Amino acid sequence: MTGPALDFVIAALERIRQTSDRAPRASRTALALLQAEVPQKGRTQPLTAPNKAELLAPIRERVRGCTKCPHLACTRTQTVFGVGNPDAELMFIGEAPGMDEDKQGEPFVGRAGQLLTKIIKAMNFAREDVYIANILKCRPDTPAGTFGNRAPTPIEMQTCRPYLVEQIEIIAPKVLVALGAVAVEGLLGTRGTMRELRGRWHAYNGIPLMITYHPAYLLRNQAPSEKRKVWEDMLQVLERLGRPITERQRNYFL
Ligand code: URA
Repeated sequence: MTGPALDFVIAALERIRQTSDRAPRASRTALALLQAEVPQKGRTQPLTAPNKAELLAPIRERVRGCTKCPHLACTRTQTVFGVGNPDAELMFIGEAPGMDEDKQGEPFVGRAGQLLTKIIKAMNFAREDVYIANILKCRPDTPAGTFGNRAPTPIEMQTCRPYLVEQIEIIAPKVLVALGAVAVEGLLGTRGTMRELRGRWHAYNGIPLMITYHPAYLLRNQAPSEKRKVWEDMLQVLERLGRPITERQRNYFL
């Protein structure tokens, strides 16, 4: 933001503060960006804005120490913040870490994650090119002695959501992909069937959002028709990103 534009924003915030009984609210990220732009005493040039990795780092630390869900904080091995390129134009959102992710501290590394990585590669991206995060940063706990994962509860998702909101605000991808109905509920607060939701454009805070099946669904349901649906959704994503699509990609089945 340039000097006059910044002055304008600050004056507008000041006007809101004077004329409204509610103080204007600005996110930590917005404030960090503004502070970096405000010329400091003795400096003639504005500071350079912190890069996205620098903006994400303190949020990762807050997540690491988070105990907002005490039952999850005391059962997790570690938090699972997110992985990938902070400057990514494409960001995938899943539901929550499973057992493998909890062990490794990285989202989507288990069987479903391997399928997601295959999808990303078929789109001609490397896993490192995109950003991958979950609604929940902790693995949902399961009763001792049981096997498998459980879905996050609405309360757990509401509690953890602000971290994801900040991640999205910083990364500001050109396109978001929500994987499965639980991720959609966590992100938009909307419950719906995948039949209604997938395959068409939605929006989150002005960012185009494609909703598609969770890769775990494709592992449970191996029908080629279901895999093709996910691939068609990804073709729409590639088109929206203005990426070239080869004939081979058009005819691809996962
Ligand atoms: N499923 C998810 O939704 N997220 C992960 O990180 C792994 C599996």
